[in-house]
Amino acid sequence: MSIQGKIRGLHHVTATVREAQEDYDFYTKTLGLRMVKETVNFDDENVYHFYYADKVGTPSTVMTTFPYARVGVRQGTIGTGQVATTAFSAPAASMDFWRKHLKDHTVDASEAEAFGMQVLLFRDPSGLQLAIVGDDNDDRDQLWTTDAIGADQAIRGIHHAHLLVAEAAPTLQFLHEFGYETVKEEGNRTLLKAGAGKAGDLLVLEADPSRERGRNGLGTVHHVAHRTANIEDSLAIRAHLMDKYGILATDVKDRKYFRSIYFRIPGGILFEIATEGPGFLIDEDEAELGTNLRLPDWQEPRREVIEQNLVPYER
Ligand code: ZN
Repeated sequence: MSIQGKIRGLHHVTATVREAQEDYDFYTKTLGLRMVKETVNFDDENVYHFYYADKVGTPSTVMTTFPYARVGVRQGTIGTGQVATTAFSAPAASMDFWRKHLKDHTVDASEAEAFGMQVLLFRDPSGLQLAIVGDDNDDRDQLWTTDAIGADQAIRGIHHAHLLVAEAAPTLQFLHEFGYETVKEEGNRTLLKAGAGKAGDLLVLEADPSRERGRNGLGTVHHVAHRTANIEDSLAIRAHLMDKYGILATDVKDRKYFRSIYFRIPGGILFEIATEGPGFLIDEDEAELGTNLRLPDWQEPRREVIEQNLVPYER
């Protein structure tokens, strides 16, 4: 049975970052995303898990971080076997605004062009490589605005994840099997799409054998998650990849806001498939999203201890 069409595009990108305070300030104030959930790493309750997104946490708009600086995690290096760049989407006409806004926030940005689109490249406080792509083919409309960033400028969500590998063929073959199709090639880069193929449904695969292998740690992407309509589709993908492709995948993990399966793809990048539901409104109203520490039921009895161990930061 084919699994084509079951992957609808991206769900979220998760990165290991430095401090909670600088991370919160950067993603909510400099980039103007909404913190839609403050929780802890379900696999390590000593560390926050921050979710930044649009107004309601629409899958494909979600960037998540683990601020790991004080728990002995080393600085990572970006290289092959990783998502090298996480690119956000904004209207093409807002690129002048973003150039100035980033400069005003003392963020150095360089300019590039990729697949006919204008790109601003910059880093977050922990060294994570980010980009904003000017793309008018983006109809996500649950916009979150701030005093400084209006609806004409607001980041619409993630545009694409830029995968870096040493050798293109095995990864490309896998991505086609997984449900992404090639849109076009440009030098050593391939643009791929899933689902409707709009911003948020895209990957860029870059092959560069001269690059060193990336090292997991602060300032690197931990994994990229792709979305499915439901857990049945996720399980069908899991069975297909394990049986016909020899991919070792985890069991289903309950992430409260979605259900997840993890595996490494040829080329070494950690992938997740995550269900679109139940979503971030499961334990908070839209108005109060992200305003209080939320814990899964199984961690709630330990709330006092967990809160004491977390590094405080100011909103
Ligand atoms: Zn994830």
